[in-house]
Amino acid sequence: MILKIVKYPEPILQQPGEPVTEFNDELRKLVEDMFETTYASQGIGLAAPQVGASKRVTVIDLSMGKDPAQKIVLVNPEIVSSEGKQYEEEGCLSFPEIREKVVRAAKVSIRAQDEQGKWFEMDADELLSRCFQHEIDHLDGIIFLFRMSALKRNLNLRKIRKMQSEGTW
Ligand SMILES: [Zn+2]
Repeated sequence: MILKIVKYPEPILQQPGEPVTEFNDELRKLVEDMFETTYASQGIGLAAPQVGASKRVTVIDLSMGKDPAQKIVLVNPEIVSSEGKQYEEEGCLSFPEIREKVVRAAKVSIRAQDEQGKWFEMDADELLSRCFQHEIDHLDGIIFLFRMSALKRNLNLRKIRKMQSEGTW
């Protein structure tokens, strides 16, 4: 089922998600629907608060549905360590049309549970590292607008307000 993606400034986007404690069919259905929603929107990652579920769950697939081996589910993820810096353009399904360069760590190591509740660790660099940081930010209620410089944030806020007033947001 394709879920509705909430857009900025929906308040749920700025609230930390609740930790997941039950690894049941409801969670697995949410994960399945989140992948379907990501592919329908041609995204590479989606966090549960973006579909109105305030839970620490995110799905990532850099292949955009082409390679099942690249599907990643992170439940209750944490960044264990990070190093270096990268400065690349990012987008967000809750900010259609907005793309901006954001500073992120070059490499991260994360730990998370899968949809069965099993803990695992993973290292990532480049795009996957950036994606992990962007999605884990969502679970902490941090939107990428607040990772931009004040100047770029204000420019983008103005762009959003303009689209809102034109009814295109
Ligand atoms: Zn996002």
